[in-house]
Parts: sequence; structure tokens; C-alpha cells
Amino acid sequence: MSDSKTDRVTMQDPRFQYPRPPFPRQPQSAPGLDAEMDPKPDHGESSYVGHNRLAGRKALVTGADSGIGSAAALAFAREGADVAMSFLPEEARDAHKIAALIEAEGRKAILLPGDITDPAFCKTLVQDAATALGGLDILVNNAGKQTNQDSIDDVSEEQFDRTLKTNLYAMFWICKAATPLLKPGSSIINTASVVAYKAPEILLDYSTTKAGIITFTKVLAKQLIEKGIRVNAVAPGPFWTALQPSGGQPQDAVEKFGSSVPLGRPGQPVEIAPIYVFLASQEASYVTGETYGATGGTGLA
Ligand code: NAD
Ligand code: MG
Repeated sequence: MSDSKTDRVTMQDPRFQYPRPPFPRQPQSAPGLDAEMDPKPDHGESSYVGHNRLAGRKALVTGADSGIGSAAALAFAREGADVAMSFLPEEARDAHKIAALIEAEGRKAILLPGDITDPAFCKTLVQDAATALGGLDILVNNAGKQTNQDSIDDVSEEQFDRTLKTNLYAMFWICKAATPLLKPGSSIINTASVVAYKAPEILLDYSTTKAGIITFTKVLAKQLIEKGIRVNAVAPGPFWTALQPSGGQPQDAVEKFGSSVPLGRPGQPVEIAPIYVFLASQEASYVTGETYGATGGTGLA
């Protein structure tokens, strides 16, 4: 995918622009690697073209090794930003690949592996990012944990705790540490999900966090506009990332992933990166407290 499909400019039917189900079963253990996915997702490696919209900006992106976060991180670099990348140590292989692409643009890629369920690490992460980049003006809270279970009986306390810590608490800890460093014009972007509005029965703990992220975003936006900082959320529909085959979905759902949305296929990470770029940039100067969907046609309402 990422090597053959490079044209995101020519007008074409979006339903057939990228692979459609069925997909092969491909179980991985969490957090999963993009490098193991079949077909390979498009993160913009050969396809995202920048236009200098973020020249000189300094961004911290969580979950920047793979999937949606890696597409946002790479797009930021192609738009002229330096990027600090948060990811888990076991994802180093994916992270190094994206870092090399960022550096190929002449931008800085700062690798900051560690577990964001630890509040002390979250604080260090923000400090290390700001030190290495010489400041911070874009923060993307994108890391996420998704584990499907048929019933509340199957959701262990450990799972519930880890999902909430990864998806909600870490966003709180990271925002708390970052806010004092952000100057007017800075932008915070939180990755929510369509499941905040349309929650499937197999995603109890995960959907709860995604609804929480949207409310957190709206309230923080009201607080931070006093400092000239904008805060928005992005709500993806089904995207072809390692999150899904590594426990996010059962394998029979991976086989038909994306078939239930009007476009009939999953989104590729590069297809949502422009929304992160827009929200990070000064072009979104009148946009705060909003949630932007990219759902393949199901909509958020
Ligand atoms: P992904 O697996 O590529 O990215 C998730 C990342 O979260 C991982 O790469 C990992 O680095 C990070 N992460 C998880 N636990 C962590 C921890 N304890 N410490 C540090 N980092 C940790 O999958 P993705 O689909 O690109 O996910 C990115 C975001 O998009 C997530 O918030 C996810 O909930 C959201 N989302 C994805 C979809 C989809 O269909 N793929 C749909 C809606 C929302
Ligand atoms: Mg990953």
C-alpha cells in the first residue's frame, strides 16, 4: 500500500482508493505492530505532501509510532514541524521507521518510549519533549487501548483500569504538565472515536473513555481559550491500524473491517492526517471545543 499507492491528488472514487474487505485474519498481541499488518496501512510514507503549514512548530504526539498517530506525526514533519514521539518500548521497530521518515524531511524526531499509564512518566514525557524541541506548541493525545469483550463479566478490573489510565488519565496528566508550557496559538488535539456516539456492545470500557475524551475536550477548550490555546477532538470511524487485529476487534470482525460503513472499507491513517494538520495550524484559528469526524459515512450524530 504505502509504496504503490501514492496519488492523493487526482480526483477519484474514494470507495476504491484503498483496500476493501475481506482482509486476512492476523492476530497479534497488544499493542501490535504496523510492520506485521497485511495489507500494509498507508501512513503517508509516499503519499502525504506538505505545504509548510506548520513551519517551525514543535509537536508532541502520543502513539506516534503507528496508525493514526504516526500519520499525524509524519504529516506534521512534512508541514515543517519537529516532532517528539511517545510510544511503548516494544513498538521501537515501528517508531524507528517513522522517525527516519521525519528526519528525511530535515525535521527533528525525538524518541520518547515509555508507559503513559504511569503519571510520573507522563510528566517526564512532556518535560523531555519540551527540552529536546526547545518548547512545545502542538500536543496530540492519541495513544489508546482497545480490548473487545462480549460482556461486562469478561472485563477484568485490570482491563478496565488500564483502558481508563491509557485513554483518559494519561490525557489528563499530559495536558496538566503541558498547559503551562503552551503559548497563545498553541493547539491540543485529542483522538476520540465514533464509538463515543455509537458504542458497540463489545467495547464497554473503551467507548466510555472515548465519550469522556469528547467532554474533556469541550471543557478544557473553554478553560484554555483564556490563554489563547485551542483544544479539539478528532473522532475516527474504522481505520486500518494495529489496534484492531491486536485485540481491538475479534478476528472475524478484522476480516470484514470497514464493510459496515457507507464507503465500504476502512480508512487509511493518511486519510485522517489532514484533519490533525488543520487543527494544529493557524488556519483553524476559529475552531476550538469541536469534534471532527472521519467515519467513512456513518456520521457522528
Ligand atoms: P495504534 O495501535 O497504531 O496506536 C495506538 C498507540 O497507542 C500505540 O501505537 C501505542 O504507542 C500507544 N499506547 C497504547 N498504550 C500505551 C501506553 N500504556 N503507553 C504509551 N503508549 C501507549 O492504533 P490507532 O488506531 O492508530 O490508534 C490511535 C488512536 O485512534 C487511539 O486513541 C484509538 O482509540 C483511536 N481510534 C482508532 C480507530 C481505529 O479504527 N483504528 C477508531 C477510532 C479511534
Ligand atoms: Mg503502535
